[in-house]
Amino acid sequence: MNVRDSEVICGLLQKAGYKITEDEQKADAVIFNTCSVRQHAEDKVWSAVGRCKVGIIGISGCMANNYREAIFEKAPRVDFVVGTRDIAKIPAILKEIERHKGNPLLEKKIYETDAELREDEIYHTGFHLDDKHAFVVISEGCENYCAYCVVPYVRGTLHFRDHQDILKEIKEDIAKGISKITLLGQNVNAYKYKDNDFIGLVQLVNSVKGLKEFGFITSHPKDTSLELFKALAECKKFNKYLHLPVQSGSDRILKLMNRGYTREFYLNLAASYRRIIKDGTLSTDIIIGFPSETEKDFQDTYNLVNDIQFDKAYIFKYSVRPNTKAAEFTDDVEKAEKERRHKLILDLQKSISRKKNAKKNN
Ligand code: SF4
Repeated sequence: MNVRDSEVICGLLQKAGYKITEDEQKADAVIFNTCSVRQHAEDKVWSAVGRCKVGIIGISGCMANNYREAIFEKAPRVDFVVGTRDIAKIPAILKEIERHKGNPLLEKKIYETDAELREDEIYHTGFHLDDKHAFVVISEGCENYCAYCVVPYVRGTLHFRDHQDILKEIKEDIAKGISKITLLGQNVNAYKYKDNDFIGLVQLVNSVKGLKEFGFITSHPKDTSLELFKALAECKKFNKYLHLPVQSGSDRILKLMNRGYTREFYLNLAASYRRIIKDGTLSTDIIIGFPSETEKDFQDTYNLVNDIQFDKAYIFKYSVRPNTKAAEFTDDVEKAEKERRHKLILDLQKSISRKKNAKKNN
């Protein structure tokens, strides 16, 4: 989502007459489009901002919503802070900052973090980092409130884009030579705009002339269904890749995480996907060491990974995100124990991936 947002920001700036450079030495202004999903991501931004020598510095993205004007205290060289839903304002803010920069009487800090919605127009600037593949946002925000996750607080309530505008954007991409797209959203399967749900949307996308391949991220198990898999099996352009974050294999931890499904539900879903989408790839996210996770909970996760044999798994050690529900729990799994469990699952997944690769290459 942040990669696409960065493209949108670049497109808006280009339209306003700015030139984009990846070389910091050549830049008059630098905008850090930030992520708050883990502490590590935020730490990297604070130190990059500290090292930055460029005249004008802006911060956009999730950290902007997470810290708002407190950013100016923590990083006094930052000139402007723009939230996830305010990015359309960046060109005007930059012009305003430029106008007064260097004049001690007029210099000011600007922060804008309170917009309710994004305008669809921002997705049509045509700026893409890849000339063959494009990300297409279908929904913004999230209202699932998984206990560990900061996204609903920094990206706001759930909003779905009009399917007509999504299709218009895809057609514009195709006209530019792009042939593959990835539909993007925090929870794509929940898509609903007027009479169109996610199944309706993928069918519409599949029928777009000139499009060769499409996929989507990220799916939420509670909103994923057999009907969706059956519809996808009929979509010749579907890339047969499903990223379906399980997070834990323990029913007790899933409940604490507020994930809205059980271990059994997930196991059945994964089996149905493999049965219906022939040669489909399945990947997942797992959090190790969530508050109160016991050895038994961990073993449930380990066994689930072993049972499902994911093609890929992204395994994270739990870290507290301020303001989330889980921040009220005690982060009581010792660091060394988190490391041990993390390594065990990582080693298991590595051996699964090795076996799968060897089979593919034979
Ligand atoms: S579904 Fe859960 S994990 Fe995903 S963005 Fe929403 S709150 Fe976060």
